[in-house]
Amino acid sequence: DAEASDPTASAATHVLRKIFGYDSFREGQQEIIEHVVAGGDALVLMPTGGGKSLCYQIPALVRDGVGVVISPLIALMQDQVDALTALGVRAGFLNSTQGIDERQAVEACFAAGEIDLLYLAPERLRVDATLRLLDRGKISLFAIDEAHCVAQWGHDFRPDYLALSTLHERWPTVPRVALTATATPATHAEIAARLNLENARHFVASFDRPNIQYRIAPKNEPRRQLLSLLRNEHAGDAGIIYCLSRASVDKIAEFLTQNDIPALPYHAGLDARTRAANQSRFLREDGLIMVATIAFGMGIDKPDVRFVAHLDLPKSVEGYYQETGRAGRDGQPSTAWLAYGLQDVVQQRRLIETSEGDDTHRRRLGTHLEAMLALCETIDCRRVRLLDYFGQKSAPCGNCDTCITPPESWDGTIPAQKLLSTVLRLQRERRQKFGAGQIVDILLGRKTDKVLQHDHASLTVFGIGTELRESEWRGVVRQLLAQSLLTVEGDYGTLVLTDASADVLRGNHQVLLRREPERTKPARSTSKS
Ligand code: ADP
Ligand code: ZN
Repeated sequence: DAEASDPTASAATHVLRKIFGYDSFREGQQEIIEHVVAGGDALVLMPTGGGKSLCYQIPALVRDGVGVVISPLIALMQDQVDALTALGVRAGFLNSTQGIDERQAVEACFAAGEIDLLYLAPERLRVDATLRLLDRGKISLFAIDEAHCVAQWGHDFRPDYLALSTLHERWPTVPRVALTATATPATHAEIAARLNLENARHFVASFDRPNIQYRIAPKNEPRRQLLSLLRNEHAGDAGIIYCLSRASVDKIAEFLTQNDIPALPYHAGLDARTRAANQSRFLREDGLIMVATIAFGMGIDKPDVRFVAHLDLPKSVEGYYQETGRAGRDGQPSTAWLAYGLQDVVQQRRLIETSEGDDTHRRRLGTHLEAMLALCETIDCRRVRLLDYFGQKSAPCGNCDTCITPPESWDGTIPAQKLLSTVLRLQRERRQKFGAGQIVDILLGRKTDKVLQHDHASLTVFGIGTELRESEWRGVVRQLLAQSLLTVEGDYGTLVLTDASADVLRGNHQVLLRREPERTKPARSTSKS
């Protein structure tokens, strides 16, 4: 057509129109592409759906040689190559799922320069034969997708990514473009350092996803809360529901199906065939809900996901941002809804305590969790807090729960002192460890079996907290956890004071709390999950 043959258009624009069939570049794309076409290194931070793929695909087509794309998403390589092939782009991949014949055919194409893009799993680069293969062909560029996987500070570290620093040593003249949809300033710096990209040009797009409405609710009756979200706001919509464990994925998928809401499960415990079948149904059919662990979603390109719901607390703000980012890639209004409760904090702490790795690693996980809790308990705009986490300043958005119904804050110093001194009393007993339930029972002056058994009714703090309801006390516990004025340990979620608790007890620290919303009574009670 006339536009495609416009002689004044750059080679990149020409490829955009003629091969990909798009009229114009999205924000940031053209600059990045021109820079890489000219042989420059680039570090690209762009939110999900921003259009990162074109940033290396077009330069690979414009430049001489084969573009080598490093991607951890083995399950999606076939799809990516198929999509390119459908556009008439010659592409191939090398990963562990292939047979030897197939692999050799791709290797021969690469060496002969008969493809434009080669997708590689990072672990391939640890194999000497792969490096020798790459020496035999002409490489136009290296694209390092999901570049945050190289950062140990981040939430998705993959050891194989560390080997990518050798690319530059072995092929110093080949331009490299590293891309990620999530990076805090610390992760950003670590990616640059580990991949030797300090001198690369850094392109940082806004991380804001204005069409996503962020909402975080206290988890009271998760199933009822979920049903009401699905029926009242998202009837017939496609969406993703994240759960922490495989067992809860199965249970929630079954629960929705029983309630005539079409849902499929996805987790690493299902066989590869079922997983692939469920994924492809989710991508192709309308209005399906995927109930999944976080094993699902990276690299999934479904534009009309209308909601992402979390039934358990994500491990980090980066994880939360990335998972919720799968909603609304088409730019249409979408919901990111999270329900979380005290039990989530207990569970996450336990996972951290029992996680593999050294103390540094555990401390890092603890920091990630605290930041996530702070986001949950904030009385400020969620988006402001979220973007701030990624080092970007913004104004209150008007499209999150705290903007729409601003939570009241109140001076909770006295309740906090009551709660912390109860924790202190029980901590002194040492013989036994107690979780939030026992603390709240003591504050409310409840003579339960467990209270009587441990003689807790004789404590001076017994019954000093009747001014708050149980749900409010649990809210106080959550918020003190979020503010690091309290922490939780061990299998039973034992509450333990922190260094900062002392200041509150001495009256040197005012505690500002978020008022718990009135709990709406369910019309008919459904079972708790
Ligand atoms: P990311 O990897 O950043 O999440 P993708 O590269 O998968 O995003 O792109 C997201 C969607 O936007 C894809 O469907 C892609 O085809 C589309 N897209 C990318 N660039 C453009 C463009 N310039 N014009 C129109 N659509 C585009
Ligand atoms: Zn807001």
